[in-house]
Amino acid sequence: MGAFQTHKRTIRIADFEHPRGAVSIETLMAMERPDWAHLRDQINLRRADIPGQPLARCRLCEHGVFIRAQAVDDDHLPMFAHFPGGPEDCPWYDGGTIRPDDARAAQYQGHQESALHRRTCQTVEAMAKQDASCVDSAIDTYLRPAVHQRGRYPDVFLFMTGLGRFAVEVQLSKPFAPEISARHLHYDREGVKLIWVFLELAKPLPQGFHDVISMQRGNAFLFDAAAEAESLAMGTLVLSCYLENGKGGWLAPRLVTLDDLDITTGRSVFLEDRRSERLIALCKDGRSRWWQALAQARREKPDNPFHHDAYEPAWASVRAHVPALSQWKDDHWARHGERGRAHLASLFAILCSVAHSAERGEDVLYISRYSGDGRLLAMLNSKLSSTSYFPYADLLETFLGNSACRDLIDRASFRKLIAAARAGSPQVGQDHPVWMAMARLFPEALNSLIRAELADLGRLPGWAQGAEPEKAEAA
Ligand SMILES: [Zn+2]
Repeated sequence: MGAFQTHKRTIRIADFEHPRGAVSIETLMAMERPDWAHLRDQINLRRADIPGQPLARCRLCEHGVFIRAQAVDDDHLPMFAHFPGGPEDCPWYDGGTIRPDDARAAQYQGHQESALHRRTCQTVEAMAKQDASCVDSAIDTYLRPAVHQRGRYPDVFLFMTGLGRFAVEVQLSKPFAPEISARHLHYDREGVKLIWVFLELAKPLPQGFHDVISMQRGNAFLFDAAAEAESLAMGTLVLSCYLENGKGGWLAPRLVTLDDLDITTGRSVFLEDRRSERLIALCKDGRSRWWQALAQARREKPDNPFHHDAYEPAWASVRAHVPALSQWKDDHWARHGERGRAHLASLFAILCSVAHSAERGEDVLYISRYSGDGRLLAMLNSKLSSTSYFPYADLLETFLGNSACRDLIDRASFRKLIAAARAGSPQVGQDHPVWMAMARLFPEALNSLIRAELADLGRLPGWAQGAEPEKAEAA
């Protein structure tokens, strides 16, 4: 190694095209002559064949490298060297100028990352091209826009017969939120499926990665060693798919091909829609105990189903999410006695009546004994005529407006009673414990964040869809 140590400025790592990958100077120098000679031949053959696409590149500057056979005593030692024309500012450039150590370190980082990025893109493309259905591909090539004036340069562009066009963005450093959104919007308009690919899931995960995973509905795609091995085995591009487990972690990764992915929804592709499923479960879990209590009470005490021990676990569950409800309950029950006890259960039954009527397209009542056409409106009007429900005019109007029963808002009788209720009592607002409790039980209609997320995901249930279009479909 004495000879090597005299060469302080030599290329320490060369990145070879797939499938070889990185070769360190130590590995090279430990090779038997036939092995490094073969490498040397391959590099030189490529150089003759396609001069602009070297088989091996300097990790730092990405300039093409060759294997120089250094004469030492009676033998030769293999060394990497830049092909002529290498940049003089490469820290490993022979005879380059000396730089301060910190500047060299910073430059090393940047160079190393861009080289790794390039290599990953090349490998991803190569894996896809094994597949006969990959009829077109490109790396970092301008994609002429179909709709908008400015095109983009996807890291890897793939056109797969039967699946369509894909933009694969290989993301090593954290992406920035505006750029993530801009790309999703752009490719969605262009009808190109966008997949973000990482090499690893760092801990803690930077926010930019979270942003991408969010767009991909709780799916993270990695091109890691397992994915690369499976890609070779299957003859197509395979990615490791990490699905959120709903507890802040990940399910065991699954190896997926582009065929396995859901590409029907625009903006992003995914294996499983983890986000919508989680939201829908959260909505149902929120009110399940109240619904069970109401059903049991109606069976066992049909005359007055709003007083029943069955509501105890329901109370406990909603108070766990809305702690302020405990104080309200104590005050309200103390002031209103028996009627106070039935208050929240009655309000729940009113909103359930609206939600289920909206869901079924016909009036369903869980409170009051109206029958015939228009019984939902009759029930709402009668409740709004009672001083106990005066404070909920805003709540009821909001709930109705965010439901498929929204047309009732414009009925003259309803408008008149709403106005009277507002005149007769201060209104509970969104920060009132009762409103918060109802928003916990019916987030599809009363929690604007969950409502918007469900709408964006195309999963807002029909009953909670107002008259206006909730989701602006891409043109
Ligand atoms: Zn270099």
